[in-house]
Amino acid sequence: MLSLAARLLCLRVSGCCGGSRSMATVVSGNKTSKLVRERLQGDVLRMQVQAPGFRPGLVVLQVGDRDDSNLYISSKMRAAAEIGIDARHVRLPRSATEAEVLRSVQAVNQNPAVHGLIVQLPLDAAEPIDTQNVIDAIAPAKDVDGLTSVNAGRLSRGELAGCLLPCTPSGCMELIRQTGVSVAGKHAVVIGRSKIVGAPMRDLLLWSHATVTSCHSRTHDLPEQVSRADILVAAAGKAELVRGEWLKEGALVIDCGINHVADETKPSGKRLVGDVHYASANQRAGYITPVPGGVGPMTVAMLMENTVQSAWRVLQQSQAGR
Ligand code: NAD
Repeated sequence: MLSLAARLLCLRVSGCCGGSRSMATVVSGNKTSKLVRERLQGDVLRMQVQAPGFRPGLVVLQVGDRDDSNLYISSKMRAAAEIGIDARHVRLPRSATEAEVLRSVQAVNQNPAVHGLIVQLPLDAAEPIDTQNVIDAIAPAKDVDGLTSVNAGRLSRGELAGCLLPCTPSGCMELIRQTGVSVAGKHAVVIGRSKIVGAPMRDLLLWSHATVTSCHSRTHDLPEQVSRADILVAAAGKAELVRGEWLKEGALVIDCGINHVADETKPSGKRLVGDVHYASANQRAGYITPVPGGVGPMTVAMLMENTVQSAWRVLQQSQAGR
């Protein structure tokens, strides 16, 4: 049975008649992320009532000048401004060395007005920089991308209360919650095991009490694994890899993929597709996230959520210490 919120957020695309199956319920990341952002706006206002002048602070540290990173950063800055988060974009040139990047991270770690720090990836540096070394220099309490080894380790052990969660998997969990489908006891299949999406997604589902199968590029017979999924999260970065025929009837399908494919009918000559073949999956799934407008908008919303959560902790600690 869907909750009222779930029914409001999930749009039934078409009904069925004459015994044929209805299409999947589309789980909208645009609508869910808007609700999250509105809730966070309220949180920031409440903080200001409790501590006049207090604002959550976020720093986005960029090395170099990649066009895609510039676009992602501007959407983060816009979301932060809308919520009332004091966000700063710190840019280092491509010539920055690892030692210089580490010094910038340390400076932000020590700034009490900043509650969240992210290093925009990939680093666009002229000389090689050890990315994980830079990420691990972020103070775990300010690691609002949830990518430090400390936060990843806590998550892998199920110590969820004490850690900041990676934004894309956390956004996927929020979308799953919106459907009203309970995760406990279900069979979940995650395609992909990257540090940013697949591995933390597996951990989150596991500690939400699903039985999880983790698939990757060396998995044999992916269709067979997928056919057992009550909940499928696809994060392989392979356009339309998962076909509708692979799915268990009624499965909940979360598609993290962002892939460009050629499309001469579009002025740009390309269009965006997920890792799931949407048209065929829609015939068989119970719930499905679209691409675009599914997981994508949730990632930025959850970054804001982590920043506000981190700021709340600091505010509560400072008030408790008075
Ligand atoms: P990645 O390349 O780091 O990892 C891909 C994973 O998929 C690997 O673990 C690999 O083993 C697995 N894989 C690749 N081909 C496979 C196959 N044929 N069968 C089974 N497994 C296979 O990618 P990532 O950073 O984890 O991102 C995955 C996808 O999610 C990409 O499309 C990326 O653009 C997208 N993404 C979206 C968001 C968002 O905000 N929506 C955020 C991060 C990533």
